[in-house]
Amino acid sequence: MADNDARVAIVTGAARGIGAAVARRLAADGLAVALLDLVEESCAPGVAEIEAAGGRALAVGVDVGDSAAVEAAVARVVDGLGAPTVLVNNAGILRDNLLFKMTDDDWDAVMTVHLRGAFLMSRAVQRHQTEAGWGRIVNLSSTSALGNRGQANYAAAKAGLQGFTKTLAIELGRFGVTVNAIAPGFIATDMTAATAARVGIDFEDFKKGAAAAIPVNRVGTPEDIAHTASFLVSEGAGFVSGQVVYVAGGPKD
Ligand code: NAD
Repeated sequence: MADNDARVAIVTGAARGIGAAVARRLAADGLAVALLDLVEESCAPGVAEIEAAGGRALAVGVDVGDSAAVEAAVARVVDGLGAPTVLVNNAGILRDNLLFKMTDDDWDAVMTVHLRGAFLMSRAVQRHQTEAGWGRIVNLSSTSALGNRGQANYAAAKAGLQGFTKTLAIELGRFGVTVNAIAPGFIATDMTAATAARVGIDFEDFKKGAAAAIPVNRVGTPEDIAHTASFLVSEGAGFVSGQVVYVAGGPKD
C-alpha cells in the first residue's frame, strides 16, 4: 500500500472537538475514516460532512474501555471500510478533583478511558497493521502529563500514555508501524469549556487568561492538533516514532 486512498483510519472520540477535526483532516488527506464514539448517532454529522466532501466514512458506537465492544467495533470497521492501519487514540474524559476529594471512581474512570481504551484499541488494530506491514498509531497525551493541579488521575493517565507510546514504537517498528503521541496544551473544545464552567469562569475570559500565558499568544484549535496528526500519519513521517510532540504554542519540558 502506498497511498492514502487505500488506507483506513480509526479515530476514537470523534463525535466532537479534537477527534472530529482529526477525522475531517484525515478524510481530506484521502483516507477512509471510521468515527468512533460512545453513541453512534453522535458521529453521524461528521460522517455526513466527510461524505459530502467526497470521502468515505463510517460511524461506530463503542465504549473504548470495553474489550468486547472494542473487538466488535474494529470488526465493523473491517466490514464497512476495510482493514484499519491508522489509529488515533483520542477518546478522553476529565474527572478533576484535588487528591483529598478524588473518588475511586474519578480515578478508575479516567484510567479506563485513556489508558485501557488506548490499550484495547491498539491491541485490536495492530493485527491489521502488522499484516499490512504498515501502520500509524497516534495517542493523545497532554501537557498535563507534566503535572497539573486537580488532575492527579488525568496527569497520570496522560504520562502513562507517553510510556505506552514509546513501548509500542519499540515493539511495532519492525512491522512498519510508527507510534507517536501528541501532547496538546490548551485547546478550545467542549472539554475546556466544561472546565471553565466547573471553576465558574466565562469561557471567553478563561480562553483570554490561558492565551496570556502561551508564547504564541492564543489558545489552540482542534485544527492545530489535526494538522500535527496528519503529519504523523503521513507516509513521509515513517522515520518519526516513539516521540511526544507538544503542541502547546510554546516549549514544554
Ligand atoms: P471532548 O470532551 O470535546 O471530546 C472527547 C470525546 O471522547 C467525546 O466525543 C466523548 O464522547 C468521547 N469519549 C469519552 N469517553 C469515551 C469512551 N469511553 N469511548 C468512546 N468515546 C469516548 O475532548 P477534546 O477536548 O476534543 O479532547 C480530545 C482528546 O485530547 C482527549 O484525550 C483529551 O484528554 C485530549 N486533550 C485535550 C486538550 C484540550 O485542551 N481540549 C488538551 C490536551 C489533551
